Amino acid sequence: MLEELYREIILDHYAHPRNRGRLEGAEIAVEGVNPSCGDEISLYARVRDGRLEEVRFEGRGCSISQASASMMTEAVRGKTLAEAGQLADRFKAMMHGQPPDEEQLGELVALQGVRRFPVRIKCATLAWVALQQGLREYEAGRPARVVTSSEDEL
Ligand code: ZN
Repeated sequence: MLEELYREIILDHYAHPRNRGRLEGAEIAVEGVNPSCGDEISLYARVRDGRLEEVRFEGRGCSISQASASMMTEAVRGKTLAEAGQLADRFKAMMHGQPPDEEQLGELVALQGVRRFPVRIKCATLAWVALQQGLREYEAGRPARVVTSSEDEL
């Protein structure tokens, strides 16, 4: 039953992605690529008072990668940069086998079933790796629109 619910959550985000589209004038704009599956993500975020006021994404690829990006935008919107980074760490830890922190991760736990398919883990983490890259670039004061193909990190 739980697996069925998880599958429904993922398919719903894939069919009806939240926060999809470009964000003009975003302080954070970063691209992530998962060459092993062909997934692509462009992530945009507006930063105000140290918080991710608005988060959007564009992309194409498999249902896991796009659903994960959609879920990520909902999960980090309104969070401080530090909180968003911590959530990314928690999510990646879950995908790499740690027991999920359900209170913090919320519906993101729906993606934990992907762990059974190691080749797809990178699909689920792509948007989060892009987010972490974007946060690092922003905090380093680098201009937006950095292209990354950080496969090693996925
Ligand atoms: Zn994929």
